[in-house]
Amino acid sequence: MSSESVPAEPLRHHDEGVWLVQFTGRVLVVCPGCGGRASVVPRPGLAPPKYFSALFFQPRRLSCAGCGAVAEWAPGQKGAGLVGAVVGGTEDPFFRRPLWLQARCAGRILWAYDVEHVDALAAYVGARLREHHSSPTMAMFARLPAWMKSASHRDEVLAGLARLRALAELHRPTDRSDAAHDRGDRPRHHGSLLFRGGPY
Ligand SMILES: [Zn+2]
Repeated sequence: MSSESVPAEPLRHHDEGVWLVQFTGRVLVVCPGCGGRASVVPRPGLAPPKYFSALFFQPRRLSCAGCGAVAEWAPGQKGAGLVGAVVGGTEDPFFRRPLWLQARCAGRILWAYDVEHVDALAAYVGARLREHHSSPTMAMFARLPAWMKSASHRDEVLAGLARLRALAELHRPTDRSDAAHDRGDRPRHHGSLLFRGGPY
């Protein structure tokens, strides 16, 4: 590594306490129809929610430009309450489709919802100095698995995030990452703890 690649100032990252659900504005998934790239977005015409917590209950639409597949999601009902989306892991929070942005990295699966999410992770992972927000219960960065935060994995994780960014540009069924399997056709050993996506 040349001395030019060492920044004079440490790259700072200030965690504003962003929630993972804030990155669900667009989620790239494996299309249930053709196996290409489909998008999950808030159902068109809805007013943007007033609170981040409402994002868990915002109706969504899956659509695929490749094969025309369309599906709708709305929160379930349990007694008097609504059952919202569950974020985290390698499936989308709404339709439970495998995420399109998945790559093998450091013996794990690196995943993201969309490019914006990849960029946010890269800014965090690439920072030499991390300033934490004080209330981390819902905060995405505070909940990242240790292997992603480790300095020894920094270059590997940044390279993996670059692969995710490139994947986001692709859309054909044959472009699908070998890490992005359906639950049913996923090789058995990928169900082990080692390959399970963390809660980030
Ligand atoms: Zn499709």
